[in-house]
Amino acid sequence: MKIDTMCVQGGWQPGNGQPRQIPVYQSTTWRYSTSEEMGKLFDLEAPGYFYTRLQNPTNDIVADKIRALEGGVGAILTSSGQAANFYALFNIAQAGDHVLSAASIYGGTSNLFTVTMKKMGIEVELVDQNLPEEEIAKKFRPNTKAVFGETLSNPGVRVFDIEKFARLAHAHGVPLVVDNTFPTPVNCRPFEWGADIVTHSTTKYMDGHAATTGGAIVDSGNFDWTLHADKFPGLTTPDESYHGIVYADKFGKGAYTTKLVAQLMRDLGSQVSPFGSFILGLGLETLHLRMPRHCENALKVARFLTTRPEVEWVNYPGLESDPDHALARKYMPGGTCGVLAFAVKGTREDAGRFIDRLKFVSIETHVADSRTCVLHPASHTHRQLSSKQLAEAGVPEGLIRLSAGIEDADDIVADLEQAFAG
Ligand SMILES: *Cc1c(COP(=O)(O)O)cnc(C)c1O
Repeated sequence: MKIDTMCVQGGWQPGNGQPRQIPVYQSTTWRYSTSEEMGKLFDLEAPGYFYTRLQNPTNDIVADKIRALEGGVGAILTSSGQAANFYALFNIAQAGDHVLSAASIYGGTSNLFTVTMKKMGIEVELVDQNLPEEEIAKKFRPNTKAVFGETLSNPGVRVFDIEKFARLAHAHGVPLVVDNTFPTPVNCRPFEWGADIVTHSTTKYMDGHAATTGGAIVDSGNFDWTLHADKFPGLTTPDESYHGIVYADKFGKGAYTTKLVAQLMRDLGSQVSPFGSFILGLGLETLHLRMPRHCENALKVARFLTTRPEVEWVNYPGLESDPDHALARKYMPGGTCGVLAFAVKGTREDAGRFIDRLKFVSIETHVADSRTCVLHPASHTHRQLSSKQLAEAGVPEGLIRLSAGIEDADDIVADLEQAFAG
């Protein structure tokens, strides 16, 4: 099936007389007739459900559509994108380990990596993704367990050179984990470029309506854990909490996702609610229709902004003048995403006054849903920082993040135009 058909038809395959839409299994638990049957589930000897903290059929059905869209062998939903990125790494790294990550990543992920995971003893080192390959190669250590990057970074919209980082990761015996939230599999499928694991904040385009938070982790099945058994003991040595099973031996290509459910979901939770998955499933049915409009609108807005005297610069990889345009054409020939960043000239108060004048384009801590919205980091997420600190953090005072929705682009441009005039 082509990607558009998978958005509509992937996942739920109803049998004769079954509901056409995905059933919501709003139940924490399942009933069994014999103690033996239940026991086998606990030993991972038989497939089946017993408790929603670990697995739920509605969640698995929606995860399976995302798995199909990315072209992977297994997928797990989580309660947020934060949980997805944490689990994706914590499933293969532990205290004493090191992970290399691109520095151009979402602020929430950067906090998770450099503050919270550091407290857990995992050192995530941030690197400039534009450094030459030989420079990045020097940063690998014997205890490096993974490489991480965002296909399109939030909020800078920088393009991650997936092939370059896949080569580096594989030359050092570790998987490449790519957060594919912004392009979605409609615009980029990182497995086709060598990524091993893909993560998502499904809160963004996949849900698409700003209705429910969620995340997803997809395994390509391509990384051979047994070839690097010494690096990944969690997958290649016995798990005493399951009578000594070895995930890589027993589950083959399903090892990574099975361990993620059996250990991380069991011990940490972060399971999405079945109703949340149902809403995500509705969003996924139109993802292929919405993404092209988001991209088309963002490009029109970006082109308009480049003509305004009030605007200092515009960051959008869809613009021919953007330094990442060639990479964007390579990895996302059909378009990138609806998010762009630009800076208005003047002080942070000027930028605040500009966004206050916007009418239907609203001020929100969000991106990537059907409605156009803006955020001014110097007034919102980074408001505690001084002008000097803002400059040091690479967040100019005038920087505005705009997420183009799926309205008529002329109306978005007109709203910006009247705000500039004011
Ligand atoms: C929003 C976002 C996250 C975090 O997702 P939540 O669903 O908000 O937890 C992770 N990565 C990227 C690229 C994001 O945009």
